[in-house]
Amino acid sequence: MSNRNKTNSIRRKRLRRKNRERLIRQSPYLLIGLLLIGILGGITYKATGQILLTIENHRTENPEGKDGDDSPDNPDGATGAGSDGPDSESGEDGQAAAESESETDPDSSIDALLEQAWLLAAGYDYDAAIDLLTTSEFYGAGEGGTTDPQINSAISEYEHVRETLQPVEITEITHVFFHSLVMDEAKAFDGDADESGYNQVMTTKDEFLKILDSMYEKGYVLVRLHDIATMQDGRMVKGQIMLPPGRKACVMSQDDVCYYEYMEDDGFASRMVIGDDGKPACEMIMDDGTVSVGSYDMVPLLEDFIEQHPDFSYKGARAVIAFTGYQGILGYRTAESYRETNPNFAADCQAASAVAQCLRDNGWELASHSWGHRDLGTISYEKFKTDCDKWEREVESLIGPTDIILYPFGADVSDWHAYNHDNQRFMYMKSLGFDYFCNVDSNQYWVQLGNDYLRQGRRNLDGYRMWMDIAAGGETSKRKLDDLFRAEDVFSSNRPTPVVWE
Ligand SMILES: [Zn+2]
Repeated sequence: MSNRNKTNSIRRKRLRRKNRERLIRQSPYLLIGLLLIGILGGITYKATGQILLTIENHRTENPEGKDGDDSPDNPDGATGAGSDGPDSESGEDGQAAAESESETDPDSSIDALLEQAWLLAAGYDYDAAIDLLTTSEFYGAGEGGTTDPQINSAISEYEHVRETLQPVEITEITHVFFHSLVMDEAKAFDGDADESGYNQVMTTKDEFLKILDSMYEKGYVLVRLHDIATMQDGRMVKGQIMLPPGRKACVMSQDDVCYYEYMEDDGFASRMVIGDDGKPACEMIMDDGTVSVGSYDMVPLLEDFIEQHPDFSYKGARAVIAFTGYQGILGYRTAESYRETNPNFAADCQAASAVAQCLRDNGWELASHSWGHRDLGTISYEKFKTDCDKWEREVESLIGPTDIILYPFGADVSDWHAYNHDNQRFMYMKSLGFDYFCNVDSNQYWVQLGNDYLRQGRRNLDGYRMWMDIAAGGETSKRKLDDLFRAEDVFSSNRPTPVVWE
């Protein structure tokens, strides 16, 4: 086992503990269930005892439920995803050495199995976790057909939690969205002509991380649009999302993941790439002109967060990533108009395509945001059609078939009434394969399950929305974010105020 694997294994064990603690915090009676399992499963067994002891200790040490014993999660964040930075090594080596087992030791194989099962269970796939354990070579492999008590205890635990699962009411699923995250606030809020736009519609990295922490603590779990409902035989059929009590499903998305030319030198990533670990990462151009690869936008930051908090993702779900086409996608200048001016045009198309596939492989859903960032509801039908066709030609050709559209400006092609087949624009998008349509709505949730489509409102978690909450002060009816986080705790002090909508 390599040193890195050892370290990861120790980290996983800590995560396992933390995950249980979150579950118990949000659903205290699970503790009673787990205690019962502990007693029934044999109080003499040390592993179970350790788990329960850990829970008790942690709750006493951390009355506020903060993850106090955490090793720092990359405090400056700048070196980012995939890099196995100093944090993962420091202070853990001694423990790693003490707990490590040789590769031939059956205990370490059981450990690996338990870890794999735990990861499935952390992602709410209890069936798969139990299945993995009961069909493993270790099941019933002991003397007289007995099973290692650690495996039995894990099975009981997952069976118990599975019994507590409740179906999510899909019409109450919230959907939050972001634009490219500001990595360098001094550059974004530097008083130039773009400052006001960034201040209104962008969110900073630190704000985003605080939002994630708050949503996680409140029990939110990321699901896919395709978990909510799927097309079956021409009809949109409600899906079934099962979560433990206290957990709430949410969808997340990011618009305009194109790293537009105007954003250069303003403190944003420059493009998305595939990191050394096979996961999506971002490039950012440093002050000295060198290119750094790291967690410089939502995608790798969310990957990092889910690595630390696997129970934030339902069965591997990630967010929805939406592209326009007019300056290419993901920071690659792949639009037709760049064919003559971009010397790397063919290679860039290939690279963008590979990154898109990498996103899909890691659970991300991909979406259209129109080709020209047009108001699809009000432009002429001819222009509407031309825009849709251009998106197909220049973007879908790179990223593969896509059935989601996130409307630019949130501008829908109809009012809130159900889409009907007289709606020419809806029918045209349907003919191109779109089944999921998302507008913008500041209500807590808005989901419309149509006969042959799913429509959902999205909430902007940006500078403007946060400022509106702050300006509302104690007027709770005007505050729109309190179910997710308190704007006052998140809003960056580097932002110019007031944030005015222009
Ligand atoms: Zn947009």
